[in-house]
Amino acid sequence: MSKPQNVKPEDLKKILDKIKSLSDDAVGNYLFKGYRIQISKYKQTGAERVQFLYKRRRENGLCIVCGKKVTKKNPVTGKLYRLCETHRKEIDNKKN
Ligand SMILES: [Zn+2]
Repeated sequence: MSKPQNVKPEDLKKILDKIKSLSDDAVGNYLFKGYRIQISKYKQTGAERVQFLYKRRRENGLCIVCGKKVTKKNPVTGKLYRLCETHRKEIDNKKN
């Protein structure tokens, strides 16, 4: 389980709004003044969880393998790479 994210009163409202709109963005582990709030999907399969984690990392510009911040962009698409430098090299090496 990842470390809870500290939230402010106004964040609580945003989280609830996300739940109301059935957005997966609400899923997370939050800490509010000593209270731990955990929001997860009920009866989610392992595969769905992994898929969700990948999606979340991708949206936040993190390496989909290790979760490290991705800083380099693909010059062709202008978008951030899906992988950090370490994992990008690793996969490139496997291809060759
Ligand atoms: Zn990585």
